[in-house]
Amino acid sequence: MTAVERTLKTRFGFEKFRSRQQEDVVRAVIKGERDVFVCMPTGAGKSLCYQLPAVLATGITLVISPLIALIQDQVEHLKTLNILASSINSKLPLEERRQILADLESESPRLKLLYITPEMVASPSFQPCLNSICSRGLLALLAVDEAHCVSQWGHDFRPDYLKLGELRSRLPGVPCVALTATAPKRVQEDIAHALRLKSPLTFVLPVFRKNLKYDVIFRDLLPDPYIHLHAFAKEALGGSTAEKGCGIVYCRTRESCEDVAHRLTKLGIMAKPYHAGLKAGDRTTSQADWMEGRVAVIVATISFGMGVDKADVRFVAHWNLAKSLASYYQESGRAGRDGLPSFCRMYYSPKDRDQLNFLIRKEVARKQEKRGSQKELDKAPILDFEAMVAFCEKEGCRHATISQFFGDQKPNCDGACDFCHNPKVVRAQLERASALSTR
Ligand code: ADP
Ligand code: MG
Ligand code: ZN
Repeated sequence: MTAVERTLKTRFGFEKFRSRQQEDVVRAVIKGERDVFVCMPTGAGKSLCYQLPAVLATGITLVISPLIALIQDQVEHLKTLNILASSINSKLPLEERRQILADLESESPRLKLLYITPEMVASPSFQPCLNSICSRGLLALLAVDEAHCVSQWGHDFRPDYLKLGELRSRLPGVPCVALTATAPKRVQEDIAHALRLKSPLTFVLPVFRKNLKYDVIFRDLLPDPYIHLHAFAKEALGGSTAEKGCGIVYCRTRESCEDVAHRLTKLGIMAKPYHAGLKAGDRTTSQADWMEGRVAVIVATISFGMGVDKADVRFVAHWNLAKSLASYYQESGRAGRDGLPSFCRMYYSPKDRDQLNFLIRKEVARKQEKRGSQKELDKAPILDFEAMVAFCEKEGCRHATISQFFGDQKPNCDGACDFCHNPKVVRAQLERASALSTR
């Protein structure tokens, strides 16, 4: 057995690599000869691609991740594996911070992974520490997770990610691995440019996930949408047999989260709301109840989910339209991380479309006014939204629409969407919807 295989088993507890690609990436990162760019779907196991090399490396791996909550999950997880990881962030108690800094200042630090947000990278308080580990050659690897946040073409742009280019230029000789789940071509180019990746080894997995069944239901055509949602959830969770797995319903507003959770519970499926209007304590309870299986369904705004790592999500339903096809792909992709058959359903309504369309255009106009620009770039949110609408309103394979949006070939759907399963039903629904709208 090689050191890599042994580490995979004994330190991470995995029998084998998830996929050929995961293994290839791990080996390329360990080699450390070139920068590495990884684009693999949610659930493919990207974290391991830098965590395993970090364990084997001499020195520290610096991990950049966009959210403190996400960082905390990962650090907790690594701690349970007895892998020394911590994070320096604004929420850290002073004493813990002091301990971490002391370790980093010591001759041979014990820490293997140091997680920080991009804000922290640029903060003056962190510079002495960073300079000290760099100048002593202790930095083994720079890992940038959720790297699409660096691109203004992406659906989740964070200006602080742009500071990483400057960081990179201060770390000559330290290899960089950039990881993301969602990167159309132009986002990939932005990432390579912004992070100054030098002819990176690129691992791009197709976005197609054949265990996800996509369909679109026109909500306004339903006699009772709540009963419809309930039936869907029940079936996805395993029908009358002992309930297995869990589900997520995404809503746009706090009110609809409350409403839908209440209705589902009344119809017999335990559901809890999750949104920014709840007290922090209630939000944590909702999440914990769902994570630990006491509640089958969480009804949430999109603030829920980034970094939520639950393997047995059997369905993701969107009660309202998503703001872009890229975000829809990411949100619905939280289903079926264990590879088992799972369901992704959009409850579409032209009313939602018109509302969102209005809001997105207003936001774009506001930005243009502020910057006084008319750049092509400003239109990105509108184009992404139009792709989302086309996904719902056009006849055609849903998987193909997603794949082509990300620049992939048309996949072999083989009945894993409503259109390929039965195009007549989709066509009939569209006709009824158009009759309704012209009435
Ligand atoms: P991503 O960041 O690509 O969305 P994660 O790194 O969060 O994915 O991993 C998703 C899940 O897959 C996690 O629960 C992780 O523990 C699991 N996983 C990763 N690698 C393996 C493996 N080789 N064997 C089994 N499970 C794995
Ligand atoms: Mg990840
Ligand atoms: Zn299809």
